[in-house]
Amino acid sequence: MSEAFTEQGYLALLRAFLARGYAVAGYDDADPAARHLILRHDLDMSLGAAEPIAALESALSVKAHYFVLLRTEMYNPFSAAARATLGNLRRLGHEIGLHFDASVHGSDPQGLEDAAARECRALEDALGAPVRFVSFHRPAAALLGRRGTIAGRRHTYEPRFFSEMGYCSDSRGGWHYGPPLDHRAVAEGRALQLLTHPIWWIGSVPGDPVATLDRFRAERDRVLARELAANCDPYRAARGAAPPAFKGKIGDEQG
Ligand SMILES: [Zn+2]
Repeated sequence: MSEAFTEQGYLALLRAFLARGYAVAGYDDADPAARHLILRHDLDMSLGAAEPIAALESALSVKAHYFVLLRTEMYNPFSAAARATLGNLRRLGHEIGLHFDASVHGSDPQGLEDAAARECRALEDALGAPVRFVSFHRPAAALLGRRGTIAGRRHTYEPRFFSEMGYCSDSRGGWHYGPPLDHRAVAEGRALQLLTHPIWWIGSVPGDPVATLDRFRAERDRVLARELAANCDPYRAARGAAPPAFKGKIGDEQG
């Protein structure tokens, strides 16, 4: 069984897990041997896309983990819009963690620890809340199944979450290793860590990840046009006032 990559599809997927006796759990209380489902979202491209997903989860009274990048060109987690989004996620009861791009920090283990600690502190500043969990962005093979903490925090590729329980991801906008409900861990009634990226579910063109990203790009261009008009008189004089508020969900944030 495989749900369409839409908001309704995500809701149906969660309901299907609940109907099979699964309970949504967090990294601190999930038991690999139990029917526990960890909901993890890595925010690789858009923070705005997280809000509708967070609201759907809240409507089902389940809590998820959202992981935020600091070292990215895709968004700015310190912008006013981003802080509002992150505040909304927290008010809905979700947990914010660091999505850590280890590749920009070199391979020295202590250097990596220090960089992760700095990024956690910066994100804690932005959130006004502790950052308790780290998720590696596009992890090198050596980080998959890595034992121990990073910067004193638990991370999502620990053996407990990555090999002792099932793991399933919607990377590149598809279930490339099979849909989550067909996972062996689910057949056996064991825990599953489900990684989804909200951008593939919100405002998506189902079945066409490239078209979804083109739509996202067009929306971000409108945000940029609005900001240019707001910040530069000659630009506004030449191109007109800021476009009206955009109703899209995946690109409407201030980069
Ligand atoms: Zn990522």
